[in-house]
Amino acid sequence: LSEGLQSAFKSLSGKGKLTEGNMRDGLEIVQKSLLEADVSYPVVQDFMAHVSEKALGKRVLLSLRPHEELVQIVNDELINILGPVDSSLHLKSEGPTIIMLCGLQGSGKTTTCGKLSQLLKEEGIKPMLVAADLQRPAAIEQLHVIGKQLDVPVYSEPDNKNPVKVCQNGVAKAKAEGARVVILDTAGRLAIDEELMAELQKIDKKVGPDQVYLVVDGMTGQDAVNSAGAFNESLELNGVIMTKLDGDARGGALLSVKHVTGVPIKFIGTGEHFDALEPFRPEGMASRILQMGDIVQAAREAHRIVDEAEREELEAKMASGDFTLDDFKKMMEKVAKPGLMGKMMGLMPGMGQFKDAMESEEAAGGIRQTIGAINSMTMAERKNPKVIDAQRRTRIAQGAGVQTPVVSQLIKQFEVMKPLMAGMAGKGVGDRMAMMKQ
Ligand code: GDP
Ligand code: MG
Repeated sequence: LSEGLQSAFKSLSGKGKLTEGNMRDGLEIVQKSLLEADVSYPVVQDFMAHVSEKALGKRVLLSLRPHEELVQIVNDELINILGPVDSSLHLKSEGPTIIMLCGLQGSGKTTTCGKLSQLLKEEGIKPMLVAADLQRPAAIEQLHVIGKQLDVPVYSEPDNKNPVKVCQNGVAKAKAEGARVVILDTAGRLAIDEELMAELQKIDKKVGPDQVYLVVDGMTGQDAVNSAGAFNESLELNGVIMTKLDGDARGGALLSVKHVTGVPIKFIGTGEHFDALEPFRPEGMASRILQMGDIVQAAREAHRIVDEAEREELEAKMASGDFTLDDFKKMMEKVAKPGLMGKMMGLMPGMGQFKDAMESEEAAGGIRQTIGAINSMTMAERKNPKVIDAQRRTRIAQGAGVQTPVVSQLIKQFEVMKPLMAGMAGKGVGDRMAMMKQ
């Protein structure tokens, strides 16, 4: 058999179920990827423990490698954890809704004030901005510039040193002017400190914002857990906005922040302009963090192709030793979809060498020859290849238009594979029976 076909055999030999043993490599790959995405180490550890517990015992599709099945489970779990989707600002029907933005200095609070204003204006809602960052002299001016650009009123009191008062006065003004939303642009620090937290707590308590959002710089790495944890402890957060995801950052901080705060991720910032604010979508972010979208896609495709009923039927046959060349042919026809095999090979560590082989004309030809040879067999021969003697081999080869050794090797390979498959599938079926008895 051609090399390509041999690897096709290999890929058919799924391992039945995910076990600690066959997940080890896959888990290592996933862990490495998460750390590279800058997910905080303790969060990675928690996640790995959680996901391996979830994946353990899950069935592996015959045409998939354990790690591919695992990666799909990991991806789905990431989506699950990063969710739910909630980019609503939960505006009240009456009176101004007060939104407070907080976060470290430079995280993008002031810019996000502008972005949210733009968003609201597009929906015909009138916002007002309140300059409550009294730490940096230029902060008030920065907000005024944004207000002018967007034609949104900005409330500030340059001589007032009390941010609580400024916020209260700002809210009163917003009420008087009929603004539907007030956004408080608060101060940040380069690092967490108690004075800052005390100030924010005071605003939270005295002004009573309806929504408190933590703004996090998406380029933050390992430190994201600490800062988000500190904000989360001091304030009752309602959501997270992660900025600067327009760069190379893979956004691992998002997983860390979500892990610590547990609140919905509302928006992501994808640029310096005011229209660069997108509602958060867990699917896109999961694949960005994991960067294994191709494997996930191939795994999904494989699941789609081999539906459950068919699989059960095949496995039952394999377990009982009834697995025939005819069944084998059906499997080959399924996995021999153009591009699918090559794609999967290319994605498997160490299997890259087979990618070209699988995509080559030769490999496709090999699979076609195999299918053709089986087609030339009678049903009796497909059920029991032992009856195929030299004379039958020649007949089959002629019928399929292949060389006789192609037929001989196919039969030999099948005889080797059959007991292996029976062993693997038998286990799965046995376990199922045991479960049904419980
Ligand atoms: P603040 O200190 O939290 O108010 O942060 P600023 O709003 O002043 O933003 C700090 C810097 O980050 C500015 O140069 C912004 O232009 C930039 N910035 C904010 N959001 C984004 C974003 O989503 N993408 C990019 N590339 N830059 C951003
Ligand atoms: Mg600012």
